[in-house]
Amino acid sequence: MMTNNSFRPVIGILAERLVGEWRVALAPADVRRLGKRASIVIERGAGGKAGFADDDYVQAGATIADRFQITSTAQVLVSVRAPTELASFMPATVLISLGGRDDAVKAAVGARGLKHLSLDRLPRTTRAQAMDVLSSQATIAGYAAVIEGARALDVLLPMLTTAAGIVKPAKMIALGAGVAGLQAIATARRLGAVAHGFDVREASREQVESLGATFVSADNVIKAQEAANGYAAEQSADDQAKLRRALAPTLAQMQLIVTSAQIPGHPAPILIDGDTLTSLGRGTVIVDLAAETGGNTSRTKPDQTVMVSGVKILGPTNLPSLMAADASRLFSGNIRALLEHLISEETGLELHHDDPITAALLGVDQPLRTAA
Ligand code: NAD
Repeated sequence: MMTNNSFRPVIGILAERLVGEWRVALAPADVRRLGKRASIVIERGAGGKAGFADDDYVQAGATIADRFQITSTAQVLVSVRAPTELASFMPATVLISLGGRDDAVKAAVGARGLKHLSLDRLPRTTRAQAMDVLSSQATIAGYAAVIEGARALDVLLPMLTTAAGIVKPAKMIALGAGVAGLQAIATARRLGAVAHGFDVREASREQVESLGATFVSADNVIKAQEAANGYAAEQSADDQAKLRRALAPTLAQMQLIVTSAQIPGHPAPILIDGDTLTSLGRGTVIVDLAAETGGNTSRTKPDQTVMVSGVKILGPTNLPSLMAADASRLFSGNIRALLEHLISEETGLELHHDDPITAALLGVDQPLRTAA
């Protein structure tokens, strides 16, 4: 167990440095709530791109400072992405951020003796649900995927009956019906599309159907066993090929395809290969949320739009940042729940290695999870 001597730790909120990252790790409302347990200092302008002014943080009880002042005084640092200048941080600083799969981060954390609570390692348990940034951000990604996909389509999603004629509703499918896929289905339904869903976990059938969508069955395909941790198990190359062949005729009927199939610790499975791409209708739009882990199509390129036989493949890797205000509010709610778990009003900050959430975040025997 590591106990911090100061009763009220100083929590520093860092501005994001990655180009295109507009989120902030803590929003003013959560800063106010954390004020009972900690003193909070925020880097000047850190919330600006998410719509939170420095004054909002001051009103919530935080103080504003420059980055160096924060990194040299705070016991706990929070950010969305792992900072790049870890080597200059004070030893034993507790850092809470994503970035657990980044080798440079791991090396700097080890060399400097930092405590990295890597949010990519949060266990999938009921107790940890309130802290689950991957789920909250996957929800936003699923929503945003449909909005981006709708923009890229040359047809409308809803059915329209007008004096000039009838517009048929578009057909949409989510391949991978986890957190992001289910939100994509719900969003597409709200916009009037006819929605479908597919997943190798049998448990997802009911979730897809409860949203009013059709579950696409690939009964002739050997289904992956759901692993004990709730994730899909990896399929053999042969099973993956059978799955692609089984899905292709259904995909040829779709106008919008949102893919988010992932297996933690493994490359994303290829669900759409070159043969399937050429069989899709011209104008079909694929939004591949698995682009960061290799993509669910054989032609996905991270953060690029690729055209193959009249099919548009989008590979966005940071959709939550496009909706930075709400993405930050949800991320912040998760971080507040985690900080309330770690910091007690009576004893201050404590990292108990026998606490399953703390141990997992520190990297003791927990696989890394994948972001949508
Ligand atoms: P994920 O991001 O790891 O994967 C997304 C989806 O891809 C999963 O549903 C997976 O089954 C699916 N998939 C993998 N290989 C596939 C393939 N070859 N073809 C089609 N689909 C494939 O998963 P996720 O979205 O983080 O979560 C999955 C499930 O876990 C959901 O049901 C979610 O509700 C549940 N969950 C529970 C908790 C909790 O209890 N605290 C937290 C997060 C998620």
